[in-house]
Amino acid sequence: SGYQKVLEENRKLYNQVMDLKGNIRVYCRVRPFLGNQPNSFGCVDHIDEGNIAIITPSKYGKEGRKLFSFNKVFGPAATQAEVFSDTQPLIRSVLDGYNVCIFAYGQTGSGKTYTMTGPKELTEEGLGVNYRALSDLFHISQERRHTFSYTVSVQMLEIYNEQVRDLLATDGSIKKYPLNATFSQSGINVPDANIVPVSSPSDVIYLMNLGHKNRAVSSTAMNDRSSRSHSCLTVHVQGKDLTSGTTLRGCLHLVDLAGSERVDKSEVTGDRLKEAQHINKSLAALGDVIASLSSKNSHVPYRNSKLTQLLQDSLGGQAKTLMFVHISPEPDALGETLSTLKFAERVATVELGAAKVNK
Ligand code: ADP
Repeated sequence: SGYQKVLEENRKLYNQVMDLKGNIRVYCRVRPFLGNQPNSFGCVDHIDEGNIAIITPSKYGKEGRKLFSFNKVFGPAATQAEVFSDTQPLIRSVLDGYNVCIFAYGQTGSGKTYTMTGPKELTEEGLGVNYRALSDLFHISQERRHTFSYTVSVQMLEIYNEQVRDLLATDGSIKKYPLNATFSQSGINVPDANIVPVSSPSDVIYLMNLGHKNRAVSSTAMNDRSSRSHSCLTVHVQGKDLTSGTTLRGCLHLVDLAGSERVDKSEVTGDRLKEAQHINKSLAALGDVIASLSSKNSHVPYRNSKLTQLLQDSLGGQAKTLMFVHISPEPDALGETLSTLKFAERVATVELGAAKVNK
């Protein structure tokens, strides 16, 4: 049908453009409908490998469907393993000496933490990108042990109201490893943040749990602060080539972003308003940086937020970026869903010929 044709053409066009911008990928994930209508698709009309169409009632302009195309679209039935399998090549490239950023973007409740960490009751199938990435890192470094000797270390930071906090700071059993020149070259530039050597996935799981606990401690004062701060797990990898003796460095940033929902300024004041403004500012800054990288602008505005400053060495140049944008299918989330998809479209800066499709 005509509709199928448009989908097909958009997909082709998208891939052509994205091939030119090989270092930035955008994947979209739609979580299942929560609540009592498990089989409902809500406002999602169509999903295939690279396209998603959203039903828009007249309230949002012309009634019809809006089509968005991405490198990949994962529907509600996609498993954690499937989502990760397309991420795997990036993990390998960290061990080849590249810097990689993986972001989870979306409104609160859209599934960011699910993708990065997993469901609350964690099962093996439920393990998220963070765990799978780390276990892959160790696995591949083990495979390469006759040619490379790798050391791996971990940092965990939180950005809240443009303040950076070390989530690995409070446990007495962790020795303080100040950032040295070696690491600050390819890493996050936070003097005094703990950087902890690890030698197995279980070391990392221990640290992740500690970081999550530290994050939770401060959230008792302010209800669920975790949705209003960015958390960043950084894995530094140093590999020594056993024949030539040369060293390569790569790092992997796994970033669970603050909820992207717009806050109605007429309804919040004080701390909540301040938080909302900081979040808007930093997500906009991230969007600006990625958009300017993908359109190959010579000026990249890193300095407009803490987040982009911290990740400056890992955004642009040879670095690789993957953005997971998350969508809630419920009709009452439609406004946020559309603004999330617009953000995603902008960071990919791909303008498709027929973005709006009407039946
Ligand atoms: P966020 O981190 O964006 O605030 P969560 O990851 O906490 O959102 O997800 C909100 C709720 O939806 C949680 O109960 C989570 O377990 C559930 N959920 C999210 N994504 C999925 C998914 N792909 N499959 C099943 N449940 C999901």
